[in-house]
Amino acid sequence: MTEFELIRQYFASQPIARNDVRVGIGDDAAVIDPPAGTETVVTTDVLVAGVHFFEDVDPADLGHKSLAVNLSDLAAMGAEPAWFLLDITLPGVDPSWIERFARGLFDLAQIHRVQLIGGDTARGPLSVTITAIGLVPRGAALRRSGARIGDSICVTGTLGDAALALAVRRGEVQVEAAARSALAQRLNRPTPRIEAGKALRDVASSAIDISDGLLADLGHVVTASGVGARLRRDSVPLSDAYRAHLAQVGWDRALAGGDDYELCLTIPRSRADDARAIAERMNFSLTPVGEITAGGGVEIYDAEGRLYRPTRRGYDHFA
Ligand code: ADP
Ligand code: MG
Repeated sequence: MTEFELIRQYFASQPIARNDVRVGIGDDAAVIDPPAGTETVVTTDVLVAGVHFFEDVDPADLGHKSLAVNLSDLAAMGAEPAWFLLDITLPGVDPSWIERFARGLFDLAQIHRVQLIGGDTARGPLSVTITAIGLVPRGAALRRSGARIGDSICVTGTLGDAALALAVRRGEVQVEAAARSALAQRLNRPTPRIEAGKALRDVASSAIDISDGLLADLGHVVTASGVGARLRRDSVPLSDAYRAHLAQVGWDRALAGGDDYELCLTIPRSRADDARAIAERMNFSLTPVGEITAGGGVEIYDAEGRLYRPTRRGYDHFA
């Protein structure tokens, strides 16, 4: 058995088999059959060792996260995930590493019934690129460009946990063991907010997933929509672990830290009650953190209503 046969064996023996896949792994290309009346939503993300994850990463965490970041992009479009492709470069073939990677990957794939339909495998520095494909009803995809003056800005979950986990890992911040593992879980095993994106698809005016920090990602929304945003710093939702260290670490990781993979949505005022009811019924957290304004850019105000200036605005690979 060759190295790549070994890899294909792990990836071909997956638990998900959708009946809209005519041809899956094994031919020159996959053939899929999207249902009538749908549009296809396609996204890709690359994860590079030493840039997006530590070389000694738990392969199960890497498998989970490389799919999760792509599903998060589908969530931000309000799409239902359906299929994905996996391109992987590996410095060598370590069967137990690949088996663990595949387990992390397919555990998440199974939750969302998303099927691996192909990919490519090569020798090289460790990197993982996934292309995820989802479905929305025709014309229903959520865009960054739909925010309007007066809309409420809401976020799912809590912000800043991944950035704080990274600071802990780097030894910049000390926290007790329980907080450490709660934060690490958020960095290593982000939860793509698929249910929230789908449920709010017909209520929200715009959406984006928070991969580079709230300020940076909301900045993309206001630019695309030709509006501005006003954030209430102290309304930004924090986890118990983050809040316990707020005095020590401040707000800026919650405002500008990357890797949270929560959604930031804008909701027209007339739909605010509907959005709240949907979140309650479906049991996900949705927190209003500000409003869309006429002015360009994102402004933040503290609890006393004073303009707040964070020390950083987001992550930029080429800055
Ligand atoms: P080709 O040379 O025609 O591109 P490959 O040898 O690269 O074919 O791949 C053969 C089959 O295995 C294809 O169906 C491809 O999609 C699948 N495949 C290769 N690598 C992966 C991978 N990492 N994950 C899933 N499927 C893969
Ligand atoms: Mg190929």
